[in-house]
Amino acid sequence: MTATDATIRIAIVGVGKIARDQHLPSIAGNPDFELSATVSRSGGVEGVDNYGSIDALLTARPDVTAIALCQPPQFRFEAAANAIRAGRHVLLEKPPGATVAEVETLVRVAKAHDVTLFATWHSRFAAGVEPARAWLRDRSIRRVKVTWKEDVRRWHPGQDWIWQPGGLGVFDPGINALSIVTAILPNDVHLVESVLEFPRGRDAPIAAQLSFEGEGGVSVTAEFDWRQAGPQTWDIEVQTDAGRLVLSKGGAEMSIDGRASVVDQDREYAGIYRRFADLVRQRAIDVDLAPLVHVADAFMLGRRKTVEPFED
Ligand code: NAP
Repeated sequence: MTATDATIRIAIVGVGKIARDQHLPSIAGNPDFELSATVSRSGGVEGVDNYGSIDALLTARPDVTAIALCQPPQFRFEAAANAIRAGRHVLLEKPPGATVAEVETLVRVAKAHDVTLFATWHSRFAAGVEPARAWLRDRSIRRVKVTWKEDVRRWHPGQDWIWQPGGLGVFDPGINALSIVTAILPNDVHLVESVLEFPRGRDAPIAAQLSFEGEGGVSVTAEFDWRQAGPQTWDIEVQTDAGRLVLSKGGAEMSIDGRASVVDQDREYAGIYRRFADLVRQRAIDVDLAPLVHVADAFMLGRRKTVEPFED
């Protein structure tokens, strides 16, 4: 594809699983972007200039105006702050940071430097999420039940960071469910109870059970578990006065009273990059901290149980 003056020259920092699975193909498929550089300790992408640190990139490449940070959350803040201070537009993978306060700092710095900051929640771009939000807007919601159960050995083999402080453990996938719930419910909910199951010797939970309450007596329960072998479950069921809405497969499918109305497997990251291009053109900020706040609350209010050790 030929770059034009309007093309956004972008760099990826942290060329790991999600960068290769989703960011690289989504950038390649979007004519608004050109992958112009990487920052990677392990080599980057063939044919693309690679730098050993974000500061080396920022100094050498003023033409790179946007940066997608795809490293684990614990290692992102300084890179994000330096990129913003250098006047670059920044996209953050989810979760946007290891703490709530550091992301609030990034928002302030981005405002001060008049650049885009986009805290992505990829599950919000799943096909069923916007139709679910629209259908629920005028309904009276009674109960929401979230079941997010997957096999950590299958999805996160050998990822040490995920078990370390700030890696979030089972909340790494669970926060995707919370990003959907906070997008589709018309009113806020807040956490009232949390039980966290930590494998002996690990710093992050392998399972969690959460309860939330909201206006009008709405109750939300969430069950996150990383020990699910066999079929994997990423479902959200919403009971309303006018029927039962189910989002399944992480939001890719939606049904109402058992009738499928939306089915579409993989459009999340294409949507993320369309949105990023729009935000960059407007120099706008899109940071919603609600899912991260719920996770922080779950750790703050959580009753901790120690369960059997987990070995990769
Ligand atoms: P990953 O493959 O384990 O790591 C991503 C890359 O980050 C690594 O390849 C490495 O890139 C860099 N990195 C790792 N440790 C680092 C450190 N200590 N300091 C600096 N850089 C480091 O992780 P991932 O699965 O891609 O996940 C990255 C982020 O994307 C997480 O926040 C995750 O929640 C999110 N995400 C992941 C998935 C998924 O399916 N895996 C899905 C959606 C979102 P270099 O070798 O190039 O330096």
